[in-house]
Amino acid sequence: MTRGSALLADLALPELPPGAIELRQDEPMRRHTTLRLGGPADLWARPADEASLAALLACCDRAGVPVCFVGGGSNLLVRDGGIRGVVINLGRMTRVWQPDPEGAPEQVEVEAGATTGKLLLAATQWQLGGLEFLGGVPGSVGGGLIMNAGTYLGEFTRVVTEVRSRRRDGSAVRRDHAACGFRYRASDLPADEVACAASLRLWPRPRAEIEAEVASLRERRKQREPSGVDNNGSTFTNPPGEFAGRLIEAAGLKGLRIGAAEVSPVHANWLVIRRDVDEPARAADLLALIGRVREAVQAAHGVTLELEVKVVGEAAQ
Ligand SMILES: Cc1cc2nc3c(=O)[nH]c(=O)nc-3n(C[C@H](O)[C@H](O)[C@H](O)COP(=O)(O)OP(=O)(O)OC[C@H]3O[C@@H](n4cnc5c(N)ncnc54)[C@H](O)[C@@H]3O)c2cc1C
Repeated sequence: MTRGSALLADLALPELPPGAIELRQDEPMRRHTTLRLGGPADLWARPADEASLAALLACCDRAGVPVCFVGGGSNLLVRDGGIRGVVINLGRMTRVWQPDPEGAPEQVEVEAGATTGKLLLAATQWQLGGLEFLGGVPGSVGGGLIMNAGTYLGEFTRVVTEVRSRRRDGSAVRRDHAACGFRYRASDLPADEVACAASLRLWPRPRAEIEAEVASLRERRKQREPSGVDNNGSTFTNPPGEFAGRLIEAAGLKGLRIGAAEVSPVHANWLVIRRDVDEPARAADLLALIGRVREAVQAAHGVTLELEVKVVGEAAQ
């Protein structure tokens, strides 16, 4: 019996309509992270809607099974031993809509499983500005809310008026903007709740202007960011008044490699996985590289770098 099948038997899920929850046992997390790293999740679950999600959460809570939430996996480093318990993904809850297109066209509702790209496209078609900052930021709206994702053009905090989540026991909770506690690449949205949907307030802007600004952001990114490697974008947050990349580069670490993990020679705050080397891609090597970079930057500059990337799961046995 595998871990996944044992857990499924323990969970005793209630009767739900067919297809209400897509379940996969012992699902390799490398399929669901942009780093393409990480051992198996015991159970990978994708509810079709919020009612199925609530039922799944309540069931896990009653059985004392740990749950973890994964969006696009673009800010996640999953260890090689994988994730124990149930990993919940909202990739089937992806609606984006205007509840009152005539009376209040600037109000937009979005489910957390929608990709940031889908949200930006919808806003552009409705000629609503405010989300241009998302150009080139991968992942889901849920992950973007938790991280307060953004670029120099803005962040989620500028447009979010409310976030609706589910607690561990499946009960619903709403938070207005102030209660979300958005700050630089972080929020007060609790780690043990799943963000299900958000209300946004945007503003009228001609489609051509939105498209031009997004195109110039994408072009700027293309010139500065590494390509042809698996990555999570920036590995560390920028310390106040500084750039993590500048500190890492000044410590002479560009190109430093452990196994297939490398400090990108293009952008020093991108710790990436190379696929064109003989060594296998392992989360353990990337974690060792992260440790080395932190030590060297501490020694050279007296600055402790904080991870932007979220590390989850167990080390390999
Ligand atoms: C090429 C590249 C470029 C990037 N550029 C940027 C950038 O310019 N700016 C920026 O801010 N980030 C950037 N990132 C990082 C990443 O895209 C963002 O942090 C993104 O918002 C993460 O969203 P996600 O859905 O992939 O989240 P995940 O990586 O899946 O998860 C991130 C965190 O959110 C939690 N989470 C995810 N969904 C939910 C949910 N519904 N409810 C509760 N918790 C949840 C996870 O448990 C985890 O703690 C980049 C990444 C890559 C690969």
